[in-house]
Amino acid sequence: MGEKILVLGSSFGGYHSALNLRKHLSREHSITVVSSDNEFTFIPSLPWVVMGWRKPSAIQFPVAGSLRRKGIDFVQDTIVRADPENNRVIGEKGEYEYHYLIAATGSELDFEAIPGLGPKKGYSYSIFSVEEALNARDALMGAIDKGSGSLVFGNAQGASCLGPVYEMAMMVDAYLRRKLLRNRFKLSLFTNEPYLGHFGVNGFGMMTRMLEDEFADRDVEWKVNCKLAQVTPENVELEDGEKLKNDFSLIVPAFFGSHAYIGIEGLSNPRGFIPGDDYLANPKYQNVYAVGVSLAFPPPFETRVPVGVPKTGQMSAEMAGVAAHNIAADINGGPKKRGKDFSVICIADAGDTGFYLSASPLFPPRNKLVHKKGKRAHWMKIAFEKYYMASLRYGLPHLDFGW
Ligand SMILES: Cc1cc2nc3c(=O)[nH]c(=O)nc-3n(C[C@H](O)[C@H](O)[C@H](O)COP(=O)(O)OP(=O)(O)OC[C@H]3O[C@@H](n4cnc5c(N)ncnc54)[C@H](O)[C@@H]3O)c2cc1C
Repeated sequence: MGEKILVLGSSFGGYHSALNLRKHLSREHSITVVSSDNEFTFIPSLPWVVMGWRKPSAIQFPVAGSLRRKGIDFVQDTIVRADPENNRVIGEKGEYEYHYLIAATGSELDFEAIPGLGPKKGYSYSIFSVEEALNARDALMGAIDKGSGSLVFGNAQGASCLGPVYEMAMMVDAYLRRKLLRNRFKLSLFTNEPYLGHFGVNGFGMMTRMLEDEFADRDVEWKVNCKLAQVTPENVELEDGEKLKNDFSLIVPAFFGSHAYIGIEGLSNPRGFIPGDDYLANPKYQNVYAVGVSLAFPPPFETRVPVGVPKTGQMSAEMAGVAAHNIAADINGGPKKRGKDFSVICIADAGDTGFYLSASPLFPPRNKLVHKKGKRAHWMKIAFEKYYMASLRYGLPHLDFGW
């Protein structure tokens, strides 16, 4: 009898988990992906959607068809509760049993933690879905059309996805310069990090000084160690009393993992992230694996204001490879892979230039650190998006970035 493997989520972590499982396991074993979303979105390009430089259709494709062609079942459903004692999860539409589970459900956004935060009930914009990016685009262009004003980009306390607001501040600066409007706008960036470019990993060497120089040249005012007190229609208010005029603000909140896991002893930490052992299996429920943002990754460094550890798309896909390998090793026999010491490769776009970063491992001291600024990084990011989307849509071989 074949084993049943269930993958929750169909983004970087879930999609790559399912493909890797299929590569390792014969067809007698069933693989089912259950995800709220049938669209794969290339999230790293959402800042370009905010700028109006990308249409959503260029960075999305439906996953159900391409998974089914590879012998992977797909069900569109949202999981509301995990039940690891009984090897099942409960969705809005049905229940799903498994022998092995990979949780790759990413994050839920904690807007409620700060009064006035977020696009639905508050006065700031966000950038975690196409819908959020399109709303942010309309608001940003509306603010720019007014001819002058104050535009604010920030990371709230507890945030872990820290790079996008740096990209947004630089892109908006580049956009305004091109339109010869830069002198009419004040651009501010605040962050929970203890210094620019800390990125939840104690920094990447000289990147900190590069970013300080970059923002000085771009006349972006920045402030670190910030806690956000509240957002009002008029101001973005920091806990130290500073008020930044809110003609437009884009603020990244802290994350929950998933409320479907919260309160299940041993499965999840209090914020809904799933701890994993060296092989990415949950220490209590060894047939449950977590990859990508779902994996609990306690910050190894103390900071004055809480900063989370980032999990990039590339790291999520790398974890998916490890989890799939280890499930296959359990089923077929063979040695398991260790899933710690991830490396990171990232390209941050600035609109008119870009920053390439490659670091191994994620935390210092490191064996390798490469960072370069230049137009080439900007073009690399565009080329990578196009290749990556084509490789997922049409099954082209992946570039070997260790994914
Ligand atoms: C603006 C922005 C720019 C970024 N830029 C980069 C970059 O340049 N390079 C890089 O490497 N990374 C980048 N990242 C980070 C990258 O997007 C994330 O690391 C990656 O998306 C994490 O993948 P994931 O599969 O863990 O989670 P997610 O991408 O969050 O996917 C979660 C999946 O689970 C599904 N799901 C959620 N809840 C449920 C539920 N209850 N039941 C069923 N399904 C559920 C969702 O529909 C989705 O399919 C960026 C992130 C943002 C926001």
